[in-house]
Amino acid sequence: MELDQFPEHIRSYLLPKIGGNLVYRCLQCGTEYPIEEFLYTCPKCQGIFMLPDKDFDRLKEIPGHLWQEIFNYRKMLHLPALKGIFLFHEFVAPLIPLEDIVYLGEGHTPIVEANDYLKELVGCRFYYKNDGLNPSASFKDRGMACALSYANYLIRKKNLKEVLAICASTGDTSASAALYASYLRGKVKSAVLLPQGKVTTQQLAQPLGHGATVFEIPGVFDDCMKVVEYLADNYHVFLLNSKNPWRIRGQESYSYEIAQQFDYNLKNKVVVVPIGNAGNITAIMNGFLNFYKVGIIDTLPKIVGVQSVHANPVYLYYLEPDPQKRKWQPVKVKPSCAQAAMIGNPVSMPRVMQLVEEYNELAGEQKIFVVEVTEQEIMDWMLIANRNGHIACTQGGESLAGLVRALERGVVSTDEEVILDSTAHMLKFIGFQQMYFEDKFPAEYEVKPREELKNLPKLLRPSNISYFPNEKTLTTEEFKEFVKKMAKAIADSLNLQEKGR
Ligand SMILES: *Cc1c(COP(=O)(O)O)cnc(C)c1O
Ligand SMILES: [Zn+2]
Repeated sequence: MELDQFPEHIRSYLLPKIGGNLVYRCLQCGTEYPIEEFLYTCPKCQGIFMLPDKDFDRLKEIPGHLWQEIFNYRKMLHLPALKGIFLFHEFVAPLIPLEDIVYLGEGHTPIVEANDYLKELVGCRFYYKNDGLNPSASFKDRGMACALSYANYLIRKKNLKEVLAICASTGDTSASAALYASYLRGKVKSAVLLPQGKVTTQQLAQPLGHGATVFEIPGVFDDCMKVVEYLADNYHVFLLNSKNPWRIRGQESYSYEIAQQFDYNLKNKVVVVPIGNAGNITAIMNGFLNFYKVGIIDTLPKIVGVQSVHANPVYLYYLEPDPQKRKWQPVKVKPSCAQAAMIGNPVSMPRVMQLVEEYNELAGEQKIFVVEVTEQEIMDWMLIANRNGHIACTQGGESLAGLVRALERGVVSTDEEVILDSTAHMLKFIGFQQMYFEDKFPAEYEVKPREELKNLPKLLRPSNISYFPNEKTLTTEEFKEFVKKMAKAIADSLNLQEKGR
């Protein structure tokens, strides 16, 4: 739609005003640093940063209902820079000029309601928000779009030459980083560190395909992270892990979209999200907090974080009900089907601790919960979801398993409506499905396939057929025989009724 076709009272707001006053603020000692620096850890105390907007209160001058209208109308504006996560420009990264924004089609992923069968089986009304439908097939694109747009802006402003972007990854971060960096050819090069043998074939193929330098490190993700942190603190690089708070700001768009997709009414709503490095749950909490503070939503939804028993440090931390007695303790991870969340020492934990407190306090009651699920439950529920029209990855299966656990424990009640995060596309983690179907899970996963959930192709080679097309060139008669008898064999197998003649 053209500018002059919008209602008059909206026109002046359609294009965001560049502004805001963002600073890196250390979570631990509170020191603030200018964002022009390549900083990821507080030089004073080694704490990690949030990226608050010191002019955030200016956003409150526009009433919540007007913001709702602005975002709704802005969707009809055909301006690539504002088509993705930057639809919420003022809340994502208000200082970035539109010309620097990198848009590759991320965000505004669909929310798909579960069918009646699945709702009945699970026991409440729920939806998947399919973040696997982002360009690199995971939610990581939200954060990368923001971080690389900022890098792009900085490169232009400071006239930098080829910046090296690096990250450690359980797979999806590197896929996304490599994709966005490759778009900025000539300005950004990317290098990624992956734990050897702990990413899927698809996830390894992605950064390779986008031209990143890929290093496989003999170790798990937590080890890769330590190396990358050392690089970021000691060399001139742009760090693309969620330790970089620009990533978090981009990922907050997930919450903004949920608000918009439910017409800003989040009463009775629950969001379920898997926790790995805890960047995503940090962003989701902060996103809802931002909209709440400005009055765009009037309810803070309940949020349930989910962890596997094989990588559960956040769950263990919140198991202690008395906040005074809680003790943070990283864990040693065991192999997990929710491989993208297989993290024992989540970098964003200090952010989570602070935000959980703020969130519950503002809401006036406990609204953030963490539950734990088994590897078996992750696989079973992923397969059940996908047999009912969804495209959940293993972490999406973890979300559904987490909902089932939350209902069992009374954390969520049957009259609430739940949005599950399927954080990636099912195809990224399809090897786990294959291992399940073939009963080939190594023992340490502790997954035993349920017979009724298995599905394998059936080779059809009826003995009454003389020749098959992949053996020789069939004569017309032989081919007719092949088609007829093969069709009969399939019809018999499927119990099909022959049409009356
Ligand atoms: C990164 C990732 C997670 C974990 O998110 P965190 O922000 O690290 O907690 C979950 N699922 C998928 C598919 C991911 O790529
Ligand atoms: Zn500090």
